[in-house]
Amino acid sequence: GKGAAAMTNDDAARVAGVRLTHPDRVLFESQGLTKRDLAHYYERAAERMLVYAGGRPLSLVRCPQGRQKACFFQKHDSGGFPESVRKIPITEKDGSTEDYLYVSDAAGLVSALQMNALEFHIWGSRNDRIENPDRMVFDLDPDEELGFDAVKAAAIDLKDRLGRLGLDSFPLVSGGKGVHVVAPLSRRQDWTSVKAFARAFANTAADEEPQRYVATMSKAKRKGRIFIDWLRNERGSTAIAPYSTRSRQGAPVATPVSWEELEGLAAANVFHPADVLARLDQPDPWSDYAGVRQSLTKKALSGVGLA
Ligand code: ATP
Ligand code: MN
Ligand code: MN
Repeated sequence: GKGAAAMTNDDAARVAGVRLTHPDRVLFESQGLTKRDLAHYYERAAERMLVYAGGRPLSLVRCPQGRQKACFFQKHDSGGFPESVRKIPITEKDGSTEDYLYVSDAAGLVSALQMNALEFHIWGSRNDRIENPDRMVFDLDPDEELGFDAVKAAAIDLKDRLGRLGLDSFPLVSGGKGVHVVAPLSRRQDWTSVKAFARAFANTAADEEPQRYVATMSKAKRKGRIFIDWLRNERGSTAIAPYSTRSRQGAPVATPVSWEELEGLAAANVFHPADVLARLDQPDPWSDYAGVRQSLTKKALSGVGLA
């Protein structure tokens, strides 16, 4: 009867315990991906994603009308979020306190999606020690005329440079144009130290290979080069979370890959939700990440001209 049908619809619109409104709303037109599809994606990717995105402040890109329409970047709680999108007060530079958002479980990810979050951006530190980053990220932003081969080669070069300083790193294809080279940190340093290292590291690479790299944001200087965006390593800055969808054409996902796999990839936006779900059944390309114990040693600092 009518009641049973209504019950069935309601069940179908409940994912990870979260009630979805407008489950059939298409959020990515080109793929015909609905809110329900994306909720299922996040429910299944949650375990892998939360290792990197759980328990730390988030910024969200929210697109209430789907990716084609106006999206906005949200850093603070604006009210109206389901309870599983949690809040943590953080003191800002000016001494005021703002509530930031975080999630700890699949319900949190799906609840953010319920609020039309199509991108999850993460801080580089976790809630329990907000002043000590547990990751450093170099976001490679190529000039538009450069091909992906140049970006891949640059990512591998940065991995080698970090390796010579005693730092292991892991590649993430951003779902956009670039690759993020991510180095886990043991939280021994504060933001000031990590930012200083990241800046010096980018400047060192740009000084040594000025035809290849720039370490300043200026687009004019980027011509034919790759901007090593070290500014993601500031307190309050964010970078796209591993396994987050992007609100870009084709519903690409920011995807962790292995260094070997990176070499064979044609672009940074080749993985889509269905591809990523299939990858969850394969070995985790970042399986070594959680076991890395490293920090900015004297050797690392002196290698970039600090201390
Ligand atoms: P691509 O590979 O295409 O460069 P990306 O994720 O690295 O993709 P960037 O433009 O290099 O994109 O980085 C933008 C970063 O700036 C994001 O990671 C985001 O966390 C941060 N950010 C800060 N403010 C905003 C904002 N208002 N809108 C979008 N991103 C913002
Ligand atoms: Mn980038
Ligand atoms: Mn950037």
